[in-house]
Amino acid sequence: MRISTLLLLLYMPVFLSAQNTKIKVIKGLTLTNDAVLDTLLVSNTNDFLNAAQLPNESNKFVLPAQKIETYILLDEILGITTNQNSRETNFYKAHIINCIELEVAQYLLQVAYLSTSDSIPQLNAIFEIIAHKGSNGFLFSSPLKYNTLNWKIFTEQNTTVYFETDIQKNKVLDYTTFAATIDAKLKSTDKSTEFYCCDNFNEVLKLIGVLYKAEYAGIQLNTLASVADNKKLIVAGEHSNEFTDFDKHDLWHDRLSLVVPRNTLNKPVDEGCAYLYGGSWGLSWNEIFTQFIKSIPITEQTDWKEYKENPFNFGENDANHLYVDYVINALIVQQLEKQYGFEAVWKLLNSGKFQKGNENYYAILKEIAGVDSANYNAWVYGLINNKINNK
Ligand SMILES: [Zn+2]
Repeated sequence: MRISTLLLLLYMPVFLSAQNTKIKVIKGLTLTNDAVLDTLLVSNTNDFLNAAQLPNESNKFVLPAQKIETYILLDEILGITTNQNSRETNFYKAHIINCIELEVAQYLLQVAYLSTSDSIPQLNAIFEIIAHKGSNGFLFSSPLKYNTLNWKIFTEQNTTVYFETDIQKNKVLDYTTFAATIDAKLKSTDKSTEFYCCDNFNEVLKLIGVLYKAEYAGIQLNTLASVADNKKLIVAGEHSNEFTDFDKHDLWHDRLSLVVPRNTLNKPVDEGCAYLYGGSWGLSWNEIFTQFIKSIPITEQTDWKEYKENPFNFGENDANHLYVDYVINALIVQQLEKQYGFEAVWKLLNSGKFQKGNENYYAILKEIAGVDSANYNAWVYGLINNKINNK
């Protein structure tokens, strides 16, 4: 209802005259009923949204008590002014389109990112943020805490689950047990997780303060997450609102992200670990391997290095992709862990980001297991056959 009303408003030409990067307030909107406070609110909101285009940690306008809940929204605001087709970075401009006083010195703001193209109004996103007035001006949070004030809470070890009606507590126990085995491999301690169970992706977005985002139109199921200090926040909209299931593949990635930023790692090794420990797309590791040997010719001549340079998807479609090189890395991870312990896997994970020719990768593999680019194919062929024969 709210969004459709706003969409009607978008056709008012007064919206579309903004030319500078400063935030605009739509004509006729009452903010706080106090001119001095209005000026401060608009100025601080502008600063908060500009800082949203920088790393989250450097945004000085985030309410400290709700850091991680706000980071998950900031990740959605990042890049929102850019036109993805023309790459024009300042294409969409921020407009405050609504302001509601929630309680004394606390305001819920709705901010739309708008532009025009060939005289047609363009809406990129509408966000909801809460402005909290303190002694030095306003600080901002996402509305996640506010939107879930009446939700129930279940805590198991260092995982806290927020839910609306009921959850399967034994599944939460499975989750924390599996998380603990991964943490033990990663020598990761004192990490906590907060988990919100939503019906679908639309609920995820609304809870964190994304009322509309053009790039998400039509997406039914998805999960968003953020990290701050030793805590991971997961707002899940894929596995029902009752914690009936969770994805072990994603859990591997989640636990790893609490130790090191994943974008610094060698992705095929990261995905290989995820296949081995958690399967993929609901398939177990053994099911993936069975599909792999049915789909890919496995001979002494097969060039496994080539699959590394040019990723090949043997999954059913693009969405449920399964990559040959990820399977090979799963086998390598299994072998290294068995022979040398997880420390060897950790070294290979940290061999650096993918680079053409994979020199960095082969150098670490040589150091750990004496395998280099010259004997890689023969070694991998042996690992595949070992796995086939052990079945
Ligand atoms: Zn993955």
